[in-house]
Amino acid sequence: MLNGKVAVITGAGRGIGRAIALQFAQYGSKVVVNYRNSLAQIEELLTSIQNSGGEAIAIQADVSREEEARKLIEEAVKHYGRVDVLVNNAGITKDNLLMRMSEADFDHVIDVNLKGTFFCMKHAATVMLKQKQGKIINISSVVGLTGNIGQTNYAASKAGVIGMTKSVARELAPRGITVNAVAPGFIETDMTDKLPDKYKEATVAAIPLKRYGIASEVAGAVSFLASEAANYITGQVLQVDGGLAM
Ligand code: NAD
Repeated sequence: MLNGKVAVITGAGRGIGRAIALQFAQYGSKVVVNYRNSLAQIEELLTSIQNSGGEAIAIQADVSREEEARKLIEEAVKHYGRVDVLVNNAGITKDNLLMRMSEADFDHVIDVNLKGTFFCMKHAATVMLKQKQGKIINISSVVGLTGNIGQTNYAASKAGVIGMTKSVARELAPRGITVNAVAPGFIETDMTDKLPDKYKEATVAAIPLKRYGIASEVAGAVSFLASEAANYITGQVLQVDGGLAM
């Protein structure tokens, strides 16, 4: 499905990014896994991929810093000669009610989720434009579509990702590059682990499929958008949310 495709996946050490990396490798992709600081996690991931016959390298970079995002793409190209797929997965939350949300927490979430995605798209696009080919998949969230109590910063960043996705999709379409977003609902990862049990019960009740999703179910949508089966799809937001925000 992704045979020989070089894919850069940001924030791949755990959760959804890790599941995407494993699935891409399984489908034959050469995977460049990015991590910010957890070397042990990423080494374990590299070992898992290599043990199942896949190919991967790890590159450390904080995507919220343009210089590091640029180096991430440069090193991927240095190693594999090209970048066919970019998955902007790295993301954080710093939840609080509006009146209690600090400027620092607002900025931090925007810096990683929105600017990190912008920086990586910008530098990957330079390579993809030369190739006249490429696929970018940005991980947004249903919260970017619906909003959520306590997530003013996160919702702004994820709605921003959707706006950027559509803008860049229009800019790059004439050059054979597609840009799409995946908007997960509630997925079982470390990010949702920290939610209170009461909140989890209430959210499950609101999900038509009556359960949280798992990371590999998000990876399935990303693999599809990265594959040739999705060649005629661009500027779209694919919700993977058990029907939550239909
Ligand atoms: P997670 O916290 O388990 O993983 C996020 C990863 O991003 C971590 O490995 C972290 O180290 C990395 N990261 C954070 N800041 C970074 C930076 N500056 N540079 C590089 N890497 C950085 O979360 P997850 O649940 O796997 O989420 C992955 C993506 O999916 C995020 O963008 C998140 O917003 C989105 N998402 C998650 C859910 C959910 O329910 N879990 C729902 C909707 C959207």
